[in-house]
Amino acid sequence: MGLKKFVISLAPTPLVKLFASPYVAGDSIKAAVNTAQKLWEERRVCSTIDLLGEELKSDEEVQYSVDVYERLIDALGSQDYATLSLKPTQLGSHRGTENCQKVIGRIVRQAEQNNINVTLDMEDHSFTDMTLDIFRALNKDHPTFGTVLQSRLFRTDDDIMSLKNLNARIRICIGIYNEPKEIAMQSKPEMKNKMLQQVELLFKEGHYPEIATHDEAVINEAINIAEKLNMKKDQYEVQMLMGVPKQAFQDKLIQNGILVRLYVPFAEKWKYATAYCKRRLAANPAMAAYILKNILHKIAGRH
Ligand SMILES: Cc1cc2nc3c(=O)[nH]c(=O)nc-3n(C[C@H](O)[C@H](O)[C@H](O)COP(=O)(O)OP(=O)(O)OC[C@H]3O[C@@H](n4cnc5c(N)ncnc54)[C@H](O)[C@@H]3O)c2cc1C
Repeated sequence: MGLKKFVISLAPTPLVKLFASPYVAGDSIKAAVNTAQKLWEERRVCSTIDLLGEELKSDEEVQYSVDVYERLIDALGSQDYATLSLKPTQLGSHRGTENCQKVIGRIVRQAEQNNINVTLDMEDHSFTDMTLDIFRALNKDHPTFGTVLQSRLFRTDDDIMSLKNLNARIRICIGIYNEPKEIAMQSKPEMKNKMLQQVELLFKEGHYPEIATHDEAVINEAINIAEKLNMKKDQYEVQMLMGVPKQAFQDKLIQNGILVRLYVPFAEKWKYATAYCKRRLAANPAMAAYILKNILHKIAGRH
């Protein structure tokens, strides 16, 4: 575990909750739907709404997640600005690929009735094959069903080539999970370079790349690649996480006719939000030092 992650792991729950609040839309479907609606009405920013939760190992918890997604789809109704994101380990992966595909398939079908696109998030490398298998199987009947690839993994070029003729929505990002050096790059600049090469490959393979990063230089270069390849502005989009302070840059992209979509997570129960929030705090350059200072102040205050 890196130092930043270690410090964040020490943070008491109330502190995590407090600092992570910008990264989470709230604790209800209503809060998530309102956030997406407001982003659209006030700034023309699109959303992909995610129910927080991962590594669920009980059928009851999985069923609970399905219920929330079904209520969310009803609450969203048919509109143009919000899609859904979901994770295999939240939706039945504990009982194998076939079960997970069945569970996710139900949500995808219900979403499709309201013209809501769904993206299958990518978790750590032990789920890459399962995620891509589910993606391929469901994409056959649901061509707007999308997924995610992580540029840090050595396998990703081959994975792109394995998606021939699908013309799919593929979110490309560096990947948030630390992976072993035997299977993944360890240097961020290298991952970002690779990500740009993969944006180009995705275009050339006929996909719709969803460029997911907060690195403005990477986004600008990805747009240059799109222009060099004569791609229209509706053949790709830029995605960022809610709570990462990039509003001015997002607004500039939108003024230039580029679709910007924010990942908008919510949880009805806080315990499902903790893992995501800790990952976001660990990725915030200022946060580890801030939290460490706070913990030390508290300890000093006690003595
Ligand atoms: C919409 C979206 C969906 C994603 N889905 C997945 C997924 O399915 N699977 C997966 O493995 N990964 C996913 N990721 C995470 C992604 O892989 C990266 O880990 C994450 O975006 C950080 O990398 P970066 O490219 O923004 O570069 P970085 O170098 O990490 O960030 C660039 C700059 O953005 C700012 N920044 C970044 N994060 C924060 C933060 N939390 N708080 C404040 N400032 C910050 C900093 O100024 C930083 O210098 C997703 C990311 C996005 C944006």
